[in-house]
Amino acid sequence: MATLKADKDPMGQAISDYFHTGKAKKLRVLSSMFDEDEIPVSTLFRSLEEMNDIERKALDAVQGRILDVGAGSGCHTLELQKRGHSVTAIDISPLSVETMQARGVADARLADFYAPECGGPYHTLLMLMNGSGIIGTLQGMERFFRRVDELLSPGGQVLMDSSDLRYVYEDEDGQMDWDSEWGYYGEVDYRMQYGRIKGEPFDWLYVDMETLSQHAGQYGFRTEMLHLGTHYDYLVRITRKNDD
Ligand code: SAH
Repeated sequence: MATLKADKDPMGQAISDYFHTGKAKKLRVLSSMFDEDEIPVSTLFRSLEEMNDIERKALDAVQGRILDVGAGSGCHTLELQKRGHSVTAIDISPLSVETMQARGVADARLADFYAPECGGPYHTLLMLMNGSGIIGTLQGMERFFRRVDELLSPGGQVLMDSSDLRYVYEDEDGQMDWDSEWGYYGEVDYRMQYGRIKGEPFDWLYVDMETLSQHAGQYGFRTEMLHLGTHYDYLVRITRKNDD
């Protein structure tokens, strides 16, 4: 995925409106798999106090030079800057990047995770708010881990959150109402809409810890659960196997 055009950037427009006027229209999330949902735009500007345990643990676990991947309004970057860390924030949304710059993010870049503009190497890749989404599909795992290997300095780490979507398909007896022939149940397609601005559809991966660990292992990485959230969500640290 390259960067977005400003007229196809619904989340960025919502972030920009909220920053400039203190309010925003409804940010709608459409998917072929779920009922329509909404992201309250104010939550994209959450302060440390409003962040959940997974996010707080992640912020406490960063080290060295940091890349905030898909940084949005810059909420995590700004907190880390306050703590004295050196952070580069990237996003494919031009309006989000402009907003981050206006909010005081020292190094906010319009860049796709897979593009050279990300710079590097980094000691920590921070990927929050279902950070695994950027992997797209299970098929995207190989490309993802190759990219992580390029971006991470020796001894570096990825701090990522995700959710096991099994709860969506599980009945009361714990039986999954999902046939594996349909693919992996965490592969979701989304499309965002803000007023008249419609984004392009995109793939967004939710991955359970076991599946993630298997794929990581295949590409020379290992995983460590850092925190289990309250609703099938978790924070994982990913490091190279041979980095001891
Ligand atoms: N991390 C922020 C925003 C999460 S929303 C927060 O927790 O509030 C996901 C963000 O990732 C969006 O701003 C989206 O534009 C960005 N994004 C999606 N794909 C990306 C990619 N390939 N490279 C960089 N950013 C990406």
